[in-house]
Amino acid sequence: MTAPIHIIGGGLAGAEAAWQIASRGVGVVIHEMRPVRGTAAHRTAGLAELVCSNSFRSDDPEHNAVGLLHEEMRRLDSLVMRAADANQVPAGGALAVDRDGFSSAITAALEQHPLVTICREEIDGLPPADWDNVIVATGPLTSAALAEAITKLAGEAALAFFDAIAPIVHRASIDMSVAWPQSRYDRAGPGGSGADYINSPLSRPQYEAFIDALLAGQKAAFHDWEAATPYFDGCLPIEVMAERGRETLRHGPMKPFGLTNPHAPTVKPYAVVQLRQDNRLGTLFNMVGFQTKLTHGEQVRIFRTIPGLEGAEFARLGGLHRNTFLNAPNLLDATLRLRAAPRLRFAGQITGCEGYVESAAIGLVAGRFAAAERLQKSLGAPPPTTALGALLGHITGGHIETIDAGPRSYQPMNINFGLFPPLAKSPTRAADGSRLRGSAKTLARKAAISRRALGDLALWIAGADQAQAAE
Ligand SMILES: Cc1cc2nc3c(=O)[nH]c(=O)nc-3n(C[C@H](O)[C@H](O)[C@H](O)COP(=O)(O)OP(=O)(O)OC[C@H]3O[C@@H](n4cnc5c(N)ncnc54)[C@H](O)[C@@H]3O)c2cc1C
Repeated sequence: MTAPIHIIGGGLAGAEAAWQIASRGVGVVIHEMRPVRGTAAHRTAGLAELVCSNSFRSDDPEHNAVGLLHEEMRRLDSLVMRAADANQVPAGGALAVDRDGFSSAITAALEQHPLVTICREEIDGLPPADWDNVIVATGPLTSAALAEAITKLAGEAALAFFDAIAPIVHRASIDMSVAWPQSRYDRAGPGGSGADYINSPLSRPQYEAFIDALLAGQKAAFHDWEAATPYFDGCLPIEVMAERGRETLRHGPMKPFGLTNPHAPTVKPYAVVQLRQDNRLGTLFNMVGFQTKLTHGEQVRIFRTIPGLEGAEFARLGGLHRNTFLNAPNLLDATLRLRAAPRLRFAGQITGCEGYVESAAIGLVAGRFAAAERLQKSLGAPPPTTALGALLGHITGGHIETIDAGPRSYQPMNINFGLFPPLAKSPTRAADGSRLRGSAKTLARKAAISRRALGDLALWIAGADQAQAAE
Protein backbone atom coordinates (compact mmCIF):
# COMPACT_ATOMS: atom_id res chain seq x y z
CA MET A 1 0.00 0.00 0.00
CA THR A 2 1.40 3.38 -0.98
CA ALA A 3 0.40 6.54 0.88
CA PRO A 4 -2.38 8.46 -0.87
CA ILE A 5 -1.90 11.64 -2.83
CA HIS A 6 -3.83 14.58 -1.34
CA ILE A 7 -5.71 17.03 -3.52
CA ILE A 8 -6.94 20.29 -2.04
CA GLY A 9 -9.99 21.50 -4.01
CA GLY A 10 -12.50 19.37 -5.91
CA GLY A 11 -13.14 21.75 -8.82
CA LEU A 12 -12.40 21.21 -12.50
CA ALA A 13 -8.69 20.62 -11.95
CA GLY A 14 -8.89 18.68 -8.68
CA ALA A 15 -11.57 16.31 -9.96
CA GLU A 16 -9.64 15.56 -13.16
CA ALA A 17 -6.36 15.10 -11.26
CA ALA A 18 -8.05 12.67 -8.84
CA TRP A 19 -9.43 10.61 -11.71
CA GLN A 20 -6.05 10.41 -13.43
CA ILE A 21 -4.31 9.36 -10.21
CA ALA A 22 -6.88 6.72 -9.29
CA SER A 23 -6.79 5.40 -12.86
CA ARG A 24 -3.09 4.64 -12.31
CA GLY A 25 -3.89 2.54 -9.26
CA VAL A 26 -2.84 5.14 -6.69
CA GLY A 27 -5.06 6.15 -3.76
CA VAL A 28 -6.18 9.77 -3.57
CA VAL A 29 -7.92 11.95 -0.99
CA ILE A 30 -9.82 15.02 -2.21
CA HIS A 31 -10.27 17.78 0.39
CA GLU A 32 -13.14 19.99 -0.79
CA MET A 33 -14.42 22.74 1.48
CA ARG A 34 -17.92 22.98 0.02
CA PRO A 35 -20.56 22.74 1.47
CA VAL A 36 -18.84 23.36 4.83
CA ARG A 37 -17.50 26.66 3.49
CA GLY A 38 -18.72 28.31 0.28
CA THR A 39 -17.16 30.69 -2.24
CA ALA A 40 -18.52 33.87 -3.80
CA ALA A 41 -19.47 32.05 -7.00
CA HIS A 42 -20.18 28.37 -6.29
CA ARG A 43 -23.78 27.48 -5.47
CA THR A 44 -23.73 23.71 -4.90
CA ALA A 45 -21.79 21.00 -3.09
CA GLY A 46 -21.03 19.21 -6.39
CA LEU A 47 -17.50 18.58 -7.59
CA ALA A 48 -16.43 20.40 -10.79
CA GLU A 49 -19.18 22.99 -10.52
CA LEU A 50 -19.30 25.42 -13.46
CA VAL A 51 -19.67 28.83 -11.86
CA CYS A 52 -20.61 30.90 -14.91
CA SER A 53 -21.07 29.98 -18.57
CA ASN A 54 -21.99 26.37 -19.40
CA SER A 55 -19.76 26.38 -22.48
CA PHE A 56 -16.50 24.54 -23.07
CA ARG A 57 -16.15 26.70 -26.20
CA SER A 58 -15.38 25.37 -29.69
CA ASP A 59 -15.30 21.62 -30.20
CA ASP A 60 -13.50 21.88 -33.55
CA PRO A 61 -10.24 19.91 -33.10
CA GLU A 62 -8.85 20.95 -36.48
CA HIS A 63 -9.06 24.73 -36.51
CA ASN A 64 -9.55 25.74 -32.91
CA ALA A 65 -7.02 25.38 -30.10
CA VAL A 66 -9.55 24.64 -27.36
CA GLY A 67 -11.25 22.08 -29.63
CA LEU A 68 -7.85 20.46 -30.05
CA LEU A 69 -7.37 20.47 -26.27
CA HIS A 70 -10.75 18.68 -25.91
CA GLU A 71 -9.57 16.02 -28.32
CA GLU A 72 -6.22 15.52 -26.58
CA MET A 73 -7.97 15.19 -23.22
CA ARG A 74 -10.40 12.64 -24.65
CA ARG A 75 -7.42 10.61 -25.85
CA LEU A 76 -6.05 10.70 -22.30
CA ASP A 77 -9.27 9.38 -20.78
CA SER A 78 -10.32 12.68 -19.22
CA LEU A 79 -13.22 12.38 -16.79
CA VAL A 80 -14.16 16.01 -17.39
CA MET A 81 -14.46 15.46 -21.14
CA ARG A 82 -16.33 12.20 -20.65
CA ALA A 83 -18.87 13.93 -18.42
CA ALA A 84 -19.10 16.91 -20.79
CA ASP A 85 -19.76 14.71 -23.81
CA ALA A 86 -22.39 12.76 -21.90
CA ASN A 87 -24.19 15.93 -20.76
CA GLN A 88 -23.95 18.23 -23.75
CA VAL A 89 -26.72 20.60 -24.76
CA PRO A 90 -27.07 22.11 -28.24
CA ALA A 91 -24.87 25.21 -28.69
CA GLY A 92 -23.94 25.72 -32.34
CA GLY A 93 -20.25 25.06 -32.89
CA ALA A 94 -19.53 25.03 -29.16
CA LEU A 95 -19.51 22.17 -26.65
CA ALA A 96 -21.94 23.30 -23.94
CA VAL A 97 -23.19 21.16 -21.09
CA ASP A 98 -26.07 20.80 -18.66
CA ARG A 99 -24.19 22.10 -15.63
CA ASP A 100 -25.99 19.99 -13.00
CA GLY A 101 -25.79 16.78 -15.02
CA PHE A 102 -22.10 17.42 -15.69
CA SER A 103 -21.19 18.03 -12.05
CA SER A 104 -23.33 15.10 -10.83
CA ALA A 105 -21.62 12.72 -13.28
CA ILE A 106 -18.17 13.75 -12.04
CA THR A 107 -19.15 13.60 -8.38
CA ALA A 108 -20.68 10.13 -8.83
CA ALA A 109 -17.66 8.76 -10.75
CA LEU A 110 -15.27 9.88 -8.01
CA GLU A 111 -17.51 8.90 -5.09
CA GLN A 112 -17.84 5.42 -6.54
CA HIS A 113 -14.15 4.91 -7.27
CA PRO A 114 -12.63 2.55 -4.67
CA LEU A 115 -9.32 4.45 -4.63
CA VAL A 116 -10.88 7.89 -4.05
CA THR A 117 -11.85 9.38 -0.69
CA ILE A 118 -13.64 12.72 -0.49
CA CYS A 119 -13.31 14.80 2.70
CA ARG A 120 -15.53 17.83 3.03
CA GLU A 121 -13.23 20.24 4.86
CA GLU A 122 -11.33 23.45 4.34
CA ILE A 123 -7.55 23.18 4.41
CA ASP A 124 -6.80 26.49 6.09
CA GLY A 125 -3.03 26.46 6.16
CA LEU A 126 -0.10 24.52 4.79
CA PRO A 127 -0.92 20.78 4.65
CA PRO A 128 0.38 18.52 7.47
CA ALA A 129 4.06 17.61 7.10
CA ASP A 130 3.32 13.93 6.47
CA TRP A 131 1.42 14.70 3.26
CA ASP A 132 4.38 14.23 0.96
CA ASN A 133 2.59 14.48 -2.38
CA VAL A 134 -0.06 17.20 -2.56
CA ILE A 135 -1.90 18.93 -5.41
CA VAL A 136 -3.29 22.38 -4.63
CA ALA A 137 -6.22 22.99 -6.99
CA THR A 138 -8.21 25.57 -5.08
CA GLY A 139 -8.93 27.78 -8.04
CA PRO A 140 -9.66 31.46 -8.52
CA LEU A 141 -11.56 31.63 -5.23
CA THR A 142 -9.00 29.92 -3.02
CA SER A 143 -10.02 30.44 0.60
CA ALA A 144 -8.25 33.35 2.29
CA ALA A 145 -6.47 31.31 4.96
CA LEU A 146 -4.85 28.97 2.45
CA ALA A 147 -4.01 31.81 0.06
CA GLU A 148 -2.24 33.59 2.90
CA ALA A 149 -0.24 30.48 3.84
CA ILE A 150 0.83 29.92 0.22
CA THR A 151 1.78 33.57 -0.17
CA LYS A 152 3.98 33.41 2.93
CA LEU A 153 5.64 30.23 1.73
CA ALA A 154 6.16 31.29 -1.87
CA GLY A 155 7.39 34.72 -0.88
CA GLU A 156 5.53 36.42 -3.68
CA ALA A 157 2.06 37.91 -3.65
CA ALA A 158 -0.74 36.13 -5.53
CA LEU A 159 -2.59 38.45 -7.85
CA ALA A 160 -6.23 39.47 -7.97
CA PHE A 161 -8.35 40.77 -10.84
CA PHE A 162 -11.87 40.32 -12.12
CA ASP A 163 -13.63 37.54 -13.93
CA ALA A 164 -17.24 38.07 -14.87
CA ILE A 165 -20.69 36.45 -14.76
CA ALA A 166 -23.27 37.05 -17.50
CA PRO A 167 -26.99 37.22 -16.66
CA ILE A 168 -29.29 34.21 -17.27
CA VAL A 169 -32.84 34.71 -18.62
CA HIS A 170 -35.84 32.35 -18.43
CA ARG A 171 -36.54 31.22 -22.00
CA ALA A 172 -40.30 31.56 -21.60
CA SER A 173 -39.96 35.27 -20.85
CA ILE A 174 -38.30 36.08 -24.19
CA ASP A 175 -40.62 37.56 -26.85
CA MET A 176 -40.05 35.26 -29.82
CA SER A 177 -42.20 37.45 -32.08
CA VAL A 178 -39.21 39.82 -31.95
CA ALA A 179 -36.24 37.50 -31.24
CA TRP A 180 -35.39 34.40 -33.27
CA PRO A 181 -33.39 31.16 -32.92
CA GLN A 182 -30.27 30.87 -35.09
CA SER A 183 -26.60 29.98 -34.64
CA ARG A 184 -24.17 32.35 -36.28
CA TYR A 185 -23.72 31.26 -39.91
CA ASP A 186 -26.18 28.41 -39.08
CA ARG A 187 -23.33 26.30 -37.66
CA ALA A 188 -24.68 23.09 -36.16
CA GLY A 189 -21.58 21.94 -34.26
CA PRO A 190 -21.63 18.94 -31.90
CA GLY A 191 -25.20 18.12 -30.92
CA GLY A 192 -26.48 21.45 -32.23
CA SER A 193 -29.21 22.24 -34.73
CA GLY A 194 -27.87 25.43 -36.33
CA ALA A 195 -30.51 27.35 -34.39
CA ASP A 196 -29.22 27.10 -30.85
CA TYR A 197 -28.93 30.77 -29.92
CA ILE A 198 -31.74 33.27 -29.42
CA ASN A 199 -31.02 36.56 -31.13
CA SER A 200 -32.42 39.99 -30.28
CA PRO A 201 -32.01 42.66 -32.98
CA LEU A 202 -31.29 46.33 -32.33
CA SER A 203 -31.75 49.17 -34.81
CA ARG A 204 -29.20 51.99 -34.78
CA PRO A 205 -31.31 54.30 -32.53
CA GLN A 206 -31.96 51.40 -30.16
CA TYR A 207 -28.25 50.56 -30.03
CA GLU A 208 -27.30 54.19 -29.37
CA ALA A 209 -29.85 54.42 -26.55
CA PHE A 210 -28.55 51.14 -25.10
CA ILE A 211 -24.97 52.43 -25.09
CA ASP A 212 -26.11 55.66 -23.39
CA ALA A 213 -27.88 53.60 -20.73
CA LEU A 214 -24.82 51.40 -20.13
CA LEU A 215 -22.56 54.44 -19.77
CA ALA A 216 -24.93 56.23 -17.40
CA GLY A 217 -25.98 53.08 -15.48
CA GLN A 218 -25.14 52.78 -11.82
CA LYS A 219 -22.26 50.38 -11.14
CA ALA A 220 -21.77 48.37 -7.96
CA ALA A 221 -19.06 49.76 -5.71
CA PHE A 222 -15.71 47.98 -5.64
CA HIS A 223 -14.25 46.76 -2.38
CA ASP A 224 -11.11 48.65 -1.38
CA TRP A 225 -8.93 45.65 -2.17
CA GLU A 226 -10.46 45.37 -5.65
CA ALA A 227 -10.13 49.00 -6.66
CA ALA A 228 -6.66 48.92 -8.21
CA THR A 229 -7.02 45.51 -9.83
CA PRO A 230 -6.86 45.30 -13.64
CA TYR A 231 -9.57 43.57 -15.65
CA PHE A 232 -8.70 40.52 -17.71
CA ASP A 233 -9.02 41.79 -21.26
CA GLY A 234 -10.86 38.72 -22.59
CA CYS A 235 -13.57 39.16 -20.01
CA LEU A 236 -14.30 42.89 -19.85
CA PRO A 237 -17.54 44.09 -18.28
CA ILE A 238 -19.97 45.21 -20.97
CA GLU A 239 -20.06 48.79 -19.66
CA VAL A 240 -16.24 48.97 -19.74
CA MET A 241 -16.31 47.83 -23.38
CA ALA A 242 -18.84 50.61 -24.07
CA GLU A 243 -16.56 53.13 -22.37
CA ARG A 244 -13.77 52.15 -24.76
CA GLY A 245 -15.81 53.31 -27.74
CA ARG A 246 -19.45 53.44 -28.79
CA GLU A 247 -18.86 50.91 -31.57
CA THR A 248 -16.79 48.42 -29.50
CA LEU A 249 -19.76 46.22 -28.56
CA ARG A 250 -20.99 46.12 -32.14
CA HIS A 251 -17.64 44.57 -33.08
CA GLY A 252 -17.65 42.26 -30.04
CA PRO A 253 -20.50 40.40 -28.34
CA MET A 254 -23.19 42.43 -30.16
CA LYS A 255 -21.84 41.92 -33.68
CA PRO A 256 -24.69 41.42 -36.17
CA PHE A 257 -22.87 39.14 -38.66
CA GLY A 258 -23.96 35.67 -39.83
CA LEU A 259 -27.55 36.22 -38.71
CA THR A 260 -30.80 36.92 -40.61
CA ASN A 261 -33.91 38.07 -38.78
CA PRO A 262 -36.83 35.97 -40.14
CA HIS A 263 -39.29 38.56 -38.82
CA ALA A 264 -37.73 41.17 -41.15
CA PRO A 265 -35.36 39.37 -43.56
CA THR A 266 -34.57 42.47 -45.60
CA VAL A 267 -33.64 44.63 -42.60
CA LYS A 268 -30.06 44.22 -41.37
CA PRO A 269 -29.94 44.67 -37.58
CA TYR A 270 -27.39 47.27 -36.47
CA ALA A 271 -26.44 45.06 -33.52
CA VAL A 272 -27.58 41.72 -32.08
CA VAL A 273 -27.68 40.37 -28.51
CA GLN A 274 -27.20 36.59 -28.43
CA LEU A 275 -28.49 34.27 -25.71
CA ARG A 276 -27.15 30.72 -25.39
CA GLN A 277 -28.92 27.69 -23.94
CA ASP A 278 -27.82 27.16 -20.34
CA ASN A 279 -29.51 23.92 -19.21
CA ARG A 280 -30.59 20.62 -20.79
CA LEU A 281 -34.25 21.44 -20.51
CA GLY A 282 -33.72 24.56 -22.59
CA THR A 283 -35.55 26.70 -20.04
CA LEU A 284 -32.64 29.05 -19.27
CA PHE A 285 -30.54 31.14 -21.64
CA ASN A 286 -27.47 33.22 -20.80
CA MET A 287 -26.67 36.58 -22.38
CA VAL A 288 -23.45 35.92 -24.26
CA GLY A 289 -20.62 38.30 -23.33
CA PHE A 290 -22.80 40.39 -20.99
CA GLN A 291 -20.63 40.14 -17.88
CA THR A 292 -21.19 43.34 -15.93
CA LYS A 293 -20.56 45.33 -12.80
CA LEU A 294 -23.88 47.21 -13.15
CA THR A 295 -26.05 47.01 -10.04
CA HIS A 296 -28.75 44.32 -10.18
CA GLY A 297 -31.53 46.91 -10.42
CA GLU A 298 -29.81 48.66 -13.32
CA GLN A 299 -29.22 45.35 -15.12
CA VAL A 300 -32.94 44.55 -15.05
CA ARG A 301 -33.91 48.06 -16.17
CA ILE A 302 -31.32 48.36 -18.96
CA PHE A 303 -31.42 44.80 -20.31
CA ARG A 304 -35.22 45.02 -20.58
CA THR A 305 -34.77 47.79 -23.15
CA ILE A 306 -33.35 45.15 -25.53
CA PRO A 307 -35.99 44.21 -28.14
CA GLY A 308 -37.50 40.83 -27.24
CA LEU A 309 -36.30 41.10 -23.63
CA GLU A 310 -38.86 43.71 -22.49
CA GLY A 311 -40.47 41.09 -20.26
CA ALA A 312 -37.27 39.16 -19.44
CA GLU A 313 -37.22 37.30 -16.14
CA PHE A 314 -33.69 36.80 -14.86
CA ALA A 315 -32.72 33.53 -13.21
CA ARG A 316 -29.37 35.07 -12.35
CA LEU A 317 -27.89 38.54 -12.80
CA GLY A 318 -24.35 39.37 -13.82
CA GLY A 319 -21.43 40.06 -11.51
CA LEU A 320 -17.65 40.23 -11.18
CA HIS A 321 -15.30 38.17 -9.04
CA ARG A 322 -11.70 38.26 -8.06
CA ASN A 323 -9.18 35.68 -9.23
CA THR A 324 -6.18 34.17 -7.46
CA PHE A 325 -3.17 32.91 -9.34
CA LEU A 326 0.52 32.37 -8.78
CA ASN A 327 3.36 33.95 -10.68
CA ALA A 328 3.86 30.41 -11.93
CA PRO A 329 6.81 30.78 -14.34
CA ASN A 330 8.94 31.98 -11.42
CA LEU A 331 7.53 29.78 -8.69
CA LEU A 332 6.81 26.38 -10.28
CA ASP A 333 9.13 23.78 -11.81
CA ALA A 334 8.51 21.92 -15.07
CA THR A 335 6.15 19.44 -13.39
CA LEU A 336 4.15 22.14 -11.59
CA ARG A 337 5.85 21.69 -8.19
CA LEU A 338 6.50 24.70 -6.01
CA ARG A 339 10.24 25.21 -6.08
CA ALA A 340 10.19 26.38 -2.46
CA ALA A 341 8.34 23.21 -1.32
CA PRO A 342 8.34 20.47 -3.96
CA ARG A 343 5.82 18.29 -2.10
CA LEU A 344 3.24 20.88 -3.20
CA ARG A 345 2.17 20.73 -6.82
CA PHE A 346 -0.33 23.23 -8.28
CA ALA A 347 -3.09 22.69 -10.82
CA GLY A 348 -5.94 24.58 -12.42
CA GLN A 349 -6.64 28.25 -12.59
CA ILE A 350 -4.37 29.04 -9.63
CA THR A 351 -1.43 28.28 -11.97
CA GLY A 352 -2.50 31.08 -14.32
CA CYS A 353 -4.39 29.22 -16.98
CA GLU A 354 -7.86 30.54 -17.72
CA GLY A 355 -11.10 28.64 -18.26
CA TYR A 356 -12.81 25.40 -17.37
CA VAL A 357 -11.14 23.28 -20.04
CA GLU A 358 -7.67 24.65 -19.45
CA SER A 359 -8.02 24.20 -15.67
CA ALA A 360 -9.12 20.59 -16.13
CA ALA A 361 -6.28 20.02 -18.63
CA ILE A 362 -3.68 21.19 -16.13
CA GLY A 363 -5.37 19.01 -13.52
CA LEU A 364 -4.97 16.07 -15.89
CA VAL A 365 -1.26 16.70 -16.35
CA ALA A 366 -0.67 17.40 -12.64
CA GLY A 367 -2.47 14.17 -11.72
CA ARG A 368 -0.29 12.14 -14.08
CA PHE A 369 2.90 13.81 -12.79
CA ALA A 370 1.89 13.18 -9.16
CA ALA A 371 0.99 9.52 -9.80
CA ALA A 372 4.24 8.88 -11.69
CA GLU A 373 6.19 10.40 -8.79
CA ARG A 374 4.36 8.23 -6.26
CA LEU A 375 5.00 5.12 -8.40
CA GLN A 376 8.64 6.18 -8.95
CA LYS A 377 8.17 6.12 -12.70
CA SER A 378 9.55 8.70 -15.10
CA LEU A 379 7.12 10.84 -17.03
CA GLY A 380 8.23 13.67 -19.29
CA ALA A 381 6.03 16.65 -20.03
CA PRO A 382 3.71 16.42 -23.05
CA PRO A 383 5.52 17.79 -26.12
CA PRO A 384 5.25 21.58 -26.54
CA THR A 385 3.69 20.95 -29.96
CA THR A 386 0.57 19.53 -28.25
CA ALA A 387 -2.14 21.74 -26.78
CA LEU A 388 -1.44 20.26 -23.35
CA GLY A 389 2.28 20.90 -23.69
CA ALA A 390 1.75 24.40 -25.09
CA LEU A 391 -0.47 25.35 -22.17
CA LEU A 392 1.87 23.78 -19.64
CA GLY A 393 4.75 25.64 -21.28
CA HIS A 394 2.96 28.95 -20.83
CA ILE A 395 2.63 28.21 -17.11
CA THR A 396 6.04 26.77 -16.37
CA GLY A 397 8.20 29.08 -18.44
CA GLY A 398 6.70 30.12 -21.77
CA HIS A 399 5.92 33.58 -20.51
CA ILE A 400 8.53 36.30 -20.98
CA GLU A 401 8.40 39.31 -18.72
CA THR A 402 8.21 42.41 -20.84
CA ILE A 403 7.54 46.05 -20.11
CA ASP A 404 5.36 45.22 -17.14
CA ALA A 405 7.95 43.11 -15.37
CA GLY A 406 7.34 41.57 -11.99
CA PRO A 407 4.53 39.42 -10.73
CA ARG A 408 1.87 41.36 -12.66
CA SER A 409 3.51 40.67 -16.00
CA TYR A 410 2.30 37.05 -15.95
CA GLN A 411 -1.44 36.99 -16.63
CA PRO A 412 -3.90 34.12 -17.13
CA MET A 413 -4.19 32.69 -20.62
CA ASN A 414 -6.63 30.56 -22.55
CA ILE A 415 -5.15 27.96 -24.88
CA ASN A 416 -4.54 29.48 -28.32
CA PHE A 417 -2.47 28.69 -31.39
CA GLY A 418 -0.08 31.48 -30.47
CA LEU A 419 1.28 29.26 -27.66
CA PHE A 420 2.38 26.53 -30.10
CA PRO A 421 5.84 26.45 -31.69
CA PRO A 422 5.58 27.59 -35.34
CA LEU A 423 5.49 24.94 -38.07
CA ALA A 424 8.79 24.22 -39.80
CA LYS A 425 6.95 24.85 -43.06
CA SER A 426 3.43 26.28 -43.30
CA PRO A 427 1.21 24.83 -46.02
CA THR A 428 1.12 27.04 -49.11
CA ARG A 429 -0.95 24.89 -51.48
CA ALA A 430 -4.33 23.16 -51.23
CA ALA A 431 -4.81 19.47 -52.01
CA ASP A 432 -5.67 20.36 -55.63
CA GLY A 433 -2.37 22.25 -56.02
CA SER A 434 -3.91 25.73 -56.01
CA ARG A 435 -2.12 28.45 -54.01
CA LEU A 436 -3.65 29.04 -50.57
CA ARG A 437 -4.57 32.65 -49.72
CA GLY A 438 -6.16 34.64 -46.89
CA SER A 439 -8.36 32.72 -44.48
CA ALA A 440 -7.89 29.44 -46.39
CA LYS A 441 -4.17 29.71 -45.67
CA THR A 442 -4.80 30.42 -41.97
CA LEU A 443 -7.14 27.44 -41.71
CA ALA A 444 -4.62 25.16 -43.43
CA ARG A 445 -1.92 26.32 -40.99
CA LYS A 446 -4.13 25.62 -37.98
CA ALA A 447 -5.07 22.21 -39.37
CA ALA A 448 -1.37 21.38 -39.83
CA ILE A 449 -0.58 22.44 -36.22
CA SER A 450 -3.44 20.25 -35.00
CA ARG A 451 -2.30 17.24 -37.04
CA ARG A 452 1.21 17.64 -35.67
CA ALA A 453 -0.18 17.93 -32.12
CA LEU A 454 -2.22 14.75 -32.29
CA GLY A 455 0.67 12.85 -33.89
CA ASP A 456 3.09 14.00 -31.18
CA LEU A 457 0.55 13.26 -28.47
CA ALA A 458 0.25 9.67 -29.72
CA LEU A 459 4.04 9.31 -29.51
CA TRP A 460 4.02 10.76 -25.98
CA ILE A 461 1.29 8.35 -24.89
CA ALA A 462 3.14 5.41 -26.43
CA GLY A 463 6.42 6.54 -24.87
CA ALA A 464 4.86 6.92 -21.43
CA ASP A 465 3.30 3.46 -21.71
CA GLN A 466 6.60 1.91 -22.82
CA ALA A 467 8.53 3.60 -20.00
CA GLN A 468 6.04 2.24 -17.48
CA ALA A 469 6.17 -1.24 -18.96
CA ALA A 470 9.99 -1.24 -18.88
CA GLU A 471 10.25 -0.13 -15.23
C1 LIG B 1 -16.91 34.26 -11.32
C2 LIG B 1 -16.17 33.40 -12.25
C3 LIG B 1 -16.68 33.16 -13.52
C4 LIG B 1 -16.01 32.33 -14.40
N1 LIG B 1 -16.52 32.09 -15.62
C5 LIG B 1 -15.93 31.22 -16.44
C6 LIG B 1 -16.52 30.88 -17.69
O1 LIG B 1 -17.56 31.37 -18.03
N2 LIG B 1 -15.87 30.00 -18.48
C7 LIG B 1 -14.71 29.43 -18.11
O2 LIG B 1 -14.19 28.62 -18.88
N3 LIG B 1 -14.13 29.73 -16.93
C8 LIG B 1 -14.71 30.62 -16.09
N4 LIG B 1 -14.15 30.95 -14.89
C9 LIG B 1 -12.93 30.42 -14.55
C10 LIG B 1 -13.25 29.12 -13.83
O3 LIG B 1 -13.55 29.27 -12.49
C11 LIG B 1 -12.12 28.32 -13.78
O4 LIG B 1 -11.68 28.25 -15.06
C12 LIG B 1 -12.33 26.93 -13.26
O5 LIG B 1 -13.46 26.67 -12.49
C13 LIG B 1 -11.14 26.77 -12.42
O6 LIG B 1 -11.01 25.45 -12.12
P1 LIG B 1 -10.20 25.12 -10.83
O7 LIG B 1 -10.35 23.67 -10.62
O8 LIG B 1 -8.87 25.71 -10.89
O9 LIG B 1 -11.00 25.89 -9.67
P2 LIG B 1 -12.48 25.63 -9.16
O10 LIG B 1 -13.28 24.95 -10.19
O11 LIG B 1 -12.96 26.93 -8.62
O12 LIG B 1 -12.26 24.61 -7.98
C14 LIG B 1 -11.57 24.96 -6.81
C15 LIG B 1 -12.21 24.23 -5.66
O13 LIG B 1 -11.42 24.39 -4.49
C16 LIG B 1 -12.25 24.58 -3.38
N5 LIG B 1 -11.44 25.26 -2.36
C17 LIG B 1 -10.95 26.52 -2.36
N6 LIG B 1 -10.18 26.73 -1.28
C18 LIG B 1 -10.17 25.58 -0.57
C19 LIG B 1 -9.54 25.16 0.65
N7 LIG B 1 -8.75 25.99 1.34
N8 LIG B 1 -9.74 23.91 1.11
C20 LIG B 1 -10.55 23.05 0.41
N9 LIG B 1 -11.17 23.38 -0.75
C21 LIG B 1 -10.97 24.64 -1.24
C22 LIG B 1 -13.42 25.36 -3.94
O14 LIG B 1 -14.58 25.20 -3.15
C23 LIG B 1 -13.59 24.75 -5.32
O15 LIG B 1 -14.49 23.68 -5.33
C24 LIG B 1 -14.79 31.77 -14.00
C25 LIG B 1 -14.27 32.00 -12.73
C26 LIG B 1 -14.95 32.81 -11.86
C27 LIG B 1 -14.39 33.06 -10.49
